[in-house]
Amino acid sequence: MFSYRHAFHAGNHADVLKHTVVLAVLRHMVQKDTALTVFDTHAGAGLYRLDGDYARTSAEAAEGFLKLVASAPLDTLTPVLRDYVDMVARFNATPGQWMVYPGSPFILQHLLRDRDKLKLCELHPTDSKTLAANIAQLDAGRQVAVLREDGFEALKKFLPPPSRRALVLCDPSYEVKNDYARVQTMVADAMQRFATGTYVVWYPIIPRPEAHDVPKKLKTLATKLGKPWLSATLTVKSSKLTQDSNGEEVRPGLPASGMFIINPPHTLKAALQVALPQLAKLLGQDQHASSTLEAAG
Ligand code: SAM
Repeated sequence: MFSYRHAFHAGNHADVLKHTVVLAVLRHMVQKDTALTVFDTHAGAGLYRLDGDYARTSAEAAEGFLKLVASAPLDTLTPVLRDYVDMVARFNATPGQWMVYPGSPFILQHLLRDRDKLKLCELHPTDSKTLAANIAQLDAGRQVAVLREDGFEALKKFLPPPSRRALVLCDPSYEVKNDYARVQTMVADAMQRFATGTYVVWYPIIPRPEAHDVPKKLKTLATKLGKPWLSATLTVKSSKLTQDSNGEEVRPGLPASGMFIINPPHTLKAALQVALPQLAKLLGQDQHASSTLEAAG
């Protein structure tokens, strides 16, 4: 526990998918006047240096966000991808010099109106302190709360929210095998308390049965409750083991990930129908690069 640090992964292809989708969802939700409560159950540190040691060690952003901006001029990107790149650009003072990558707390916060609230849970002792310090700089007062709590559990006490409108982002590190089941339990419990909320779950697509169970179980839950859902995946490379120069088998880095959304905005499907194939084309590393989109309700 706590060996996962998002700083090594910030801006990778999974972040590109996740942050594009969550931005598109929230962009639509803030069009309605009624106040909104947004929850980020696994918030991370909030802001990341793309030129720092963590990012340089893993170089994951080079295969994600940095590859996206290097491979296509902004005006050739589909609207939700352009919106996403524009949003990251707001955190970087010099155009074209990508020094900072915003995590989900900052992506969510930048769209909020005065009447909206943001609740961030982060359990890692160092990352929760960094998150609190980063958020303090916003001077957002009581609009944003940073909780050093277990996000799977903390959500319960806030549902249903006073304004009866909420977006929940659940983005665990899946460092603990139990996280896969906890996601399902958390969403099932939350749907009992507040069935009209919008729930957005990220999951890795790796050769592990528990990982494949996440979208399956969430689909079953949404269908049983008669709620609309949308499932989007992005694969950038094969998940097969390869051999290094010594003939040793090497596990590839994360090859693919998915987003499962319950009660998605009605605009999301059309937006992703054009954005996902473009992402697969621009971020793909081999002939296995692809995307899928499924929706019901
Ligand atoms: N959502 C962030 C973003 O998109 O910028 C990234 C989050 S990262 C994938 C997952 C985070 O969850 C890690 O920072 C980890 O320390 C934290 N974490 C792990 N277990 C947790 C739990 N039970 N409750 C809250 N945070 C947890």
